[in-house]
Amino acid sequence: MSFVDRSFPVTATPSDLVGRVLGLNPGMMTGPGTNTYLVGRRDPILIDTGAGVPDYPPLLERYLGERGWSQPSRVLLTHRHRDHLGGVTQLRERFPGLRVAKMIHKDSGLPDAVDDLRDGERVEGDGATLVPVYTPGHASDHLCYYLVEEKALFTGDVILGGSTTVIPADDGDLADYLASLRRLQTLDVRRIYPAHGPVIEDAQAKIREYIEHRLMRERQIVAALADGPATIPALVERIYADVPVALHPVAAMSVESHLRKLAKEGRVSESIATGAPSRWTLTA
Ligand SMILES: [Zn+2]
Repeated sequence: MSFVDRSFPVTATPSDLVGRVLGLNPGMMTGPGTNTYLVGRRDPILIDTGAGVPDYPPLLERYLGERGWSQPSRVLLTHRHRDHLGGVTQLRERFPGLRVAKMIHKDSGLPDAVDDLRDGERVEGDGATLVPVYTPGHASDHLCYYLVEEKALFTGDVILGGSTTVIPADDGDLADYLASLRRLQTLDVRRIYPAHGPVIEDAQAKIREYIEHRLMRERQIVAALADGPATIPALVERIYADVPVALHPVAAMSVESHLRKLAKEGRVSESIATGAPSRWTLTA
């Protein structure tokens, strides 16, 4: 999230079964941009579509041509965020009738004719089997896709190459997120293809690191509140002292997600004040 690496190749072929085409939407929240993946030996399945950047369809077509392919057989989306489904409309202009599926959950304003896809409903490609894994937390509709033949996982925004992910206040849930990470630990995953950043080869170490990172933040927040009630901005200033101020709004989202989790567990309480940020107190 915090880096824009313009040297990240716009296309790549990380394995016999997996090709990658960048969504060309770099930014603070997307790193080098959204990775879209083509999976299978022929008639590849496309996972995610980028943000709808005009240069993306020509790049995708160029890569398809290099591989001797004409078009994706279908599209699977990891979740509804704009930088993943924003390319659906432009791809359907290029490839009329292109089928698109995602887990439909609390959705409004989806493109037309998106099929529902549920946890465990296997999708068969050419030499590639994808199994959707429901992984809420970053978004309530999030699916990862397990590639059986490689013991690999397309993690969408659940695990990223190069940074941690955001748990948005509106639709995110940190307790769900940690439960999703723990579920991923139970799968036989060797390699991770994240929606942002490079391939991760040691999947189990990365999942463990993600869980430990959140637990470390939780300990920091609890320790800070042990010194007395505090607002989110005050907690951010204390805990993220070494992080550039430009990233503090993102840090505030993270702190809020922790406080909401702790409140659900009865470990903190919120006192809401008008015209000022809430004060959070450790419960005895
Ligand atoms: Zn997202």
